[in-house]
Amino acid sequence: MGEGGTEGKYNDGMRTVHNHIAGRTQPPASGTYLDRVNPATGQPLVKVADSDERDVSAAVEAARAAFPAWAAMPAEERGRRMNQLADRVADELEPLALLECEDSGKPLKRAREAEIPRAVSNLRFFATAILHTQTEAYRTDGVAFNYVLRSPRGVAGLISPWNLPLYLFTWKIAPALATGNTVVAKPSELTPSTAARLAELSADILPPGVFNVVHGLGAKAGLPIVTHPRVPTLSFTGGTSTGAAIASAAAPMFKRLALELGGKNPTVVCADAELDGAVAGAVRAGFDNQGEICLCGSRIFVEAAIYESFVERFIAAAGKLKVGDPLEANTDQGALISAAHRDKVAAAVEAAKAEGATVRLGGTVPADLPDRCRGGFFYQPTVLTGAGPQCRIMQEEVFGPVVTITPFRDEEELLALANGVQYGLAASVWTRDVTRAHRIADRLEAGTVWINCWLLRDLRVPFGGVKQSGVGREGGSEALRFFTEPKTVCVKY
Ligand code: NAD
Repeated sequence: MGEGGTEGKYNDGMRTVHNHIAGRTQPPASGTYLDRVNPATGQPLVKVADSDERDVSAAVEAARAAFPAWAAMPAEERGRRMNQLADRVADELEPLALLECEDSGKPLKRAREAEIPRAVSNLRFFATAILHTQTEAYRTDGVAFNYVLRSPRGVAGLISPWNLPLYLFTWKIAPALATGNTVVAKPSELTPSTAARLAELSADILPPGVFNVVHGLGAKAGLPIVTHPRVPTLSFTGGTSTGAAIASAAAPMFKRLALELGGKNPTVVCADAELDGAVAGAVRAGFDNQGEICLCGSRIFVEAAIYESFVERFIAAAGKLKVGDPLEANTDQGALISAAHRDKVAAAVEAAKAEGATVRLGGTVPADLPDRCRGGFFYQPTVLTGAGPQCRIMQEEVFGPVVTITPFRDEEELLALANGVQYGLAASVWTRDVTRAHRIADRLEAGTVWINCWLLRDLRVPFGGVKQSGVGREGGSEALRFFTEPKTVCVKY
């Protein structure tokens, strides 16, 4: 793999992930590494740089030094380099997909078909978006003329989670770099390998210091990015409680902050829905990526008239999902990210049972795993019915392959149920009644509402959450605005 952030061969024993600072691979100042296992096997997989504020300071200094030249580079040239990086990622589709699969436990086919291609799209999208921006101008009643200059803000601190590693990492890096900021980024310590490889691939494309990657724990390596006085812009994706800690540390420093946080998203199935499509869509929304997507529809609400038949068909479809070795082509659901997370998911199901819910499918670890995966962290697709709206399973994000199904009588009851949580990230509505679809979409408290689909993403649309699902929006022009500072110039006639 040459000089860079990862060493060793793919899929062949332990590799080591170092930091990437000022264009070079660097060991952490502490000299220590975190051990990480393959979630599908429980076997040692990666040693991850255990960085601290010394590494963050070095990365911020490098990013500050690189900022003036990168910001001054013509947009076309920045875009050309980012497209070159996208080409390299596309060329390495297979090895990157394997790294992602090994780090996270997700099916290889998902990484190969959806996630690494999306990382390529993220880079290309913002590499070209900056060639099509417009300058706003306002004429004031024949008295003056105003125009708005937008400049990069400096060093952007970007912190991302483990569930869609390179996909979400590039979703932040691409707009930050494209708009002329330099970057200090921290991927999740649980899934560091593709970020390290991206840094390695960028080494002879981006000037030293433009793109720095610091690995390690949230409190030790993430928080120093948040509190560093020379990092004015922060974009974070992760859990709601982490987001709250970051917000409270960053707010007194008057930083610009985007928070993409947790979800407890409703899937709404109306009696007039095309049932085959609704069942397939709800199963996918419930269990895609082991249910480890912030947008997963973990609370399914079904109109009473079709409730029983929907539950029956949903259980039949979910029961066919193959849980097993992520490397196998026919695996639908791989391993959860860690033993601790698997135990948390199992505990949430036990708590739901104690609160009166009935397990209709799953509720255990699978019994028939292949030998290679016996030490892995698997959990069956699980369907619960009979959970009351205030049960923890209906209120708290599980972030695993667990859904509840609940009947509703009318739209008022549906909206009270669907909106009756602290979260508001996304929703999907399945109906053939166009008027009803628009009416429900309008009243759902969510940043995104999908009608007769789920996770259909256009990179231009605003993306983010309301309530405790986040602050701010990513995507398209929202991201370009977030990473730039507007300055109004008023010229009197
Ligand atoms: P997490 O909050 O534990 O960690 C996310 C990142 O923050 C990691 O890189 C972690 O090291 C870092 N971090 C942790 N504590 C920190 C601190 N005090 N200061 C700075 N950085 C810190 O989240 P996770 O477990 O990695 O991811 C799962 C969560 O992410 C779920 O809640 C999920 O809903 C959410 N998520 C949201 C979106 C979205 O777009 N809204 C997308 C994906 C995941």
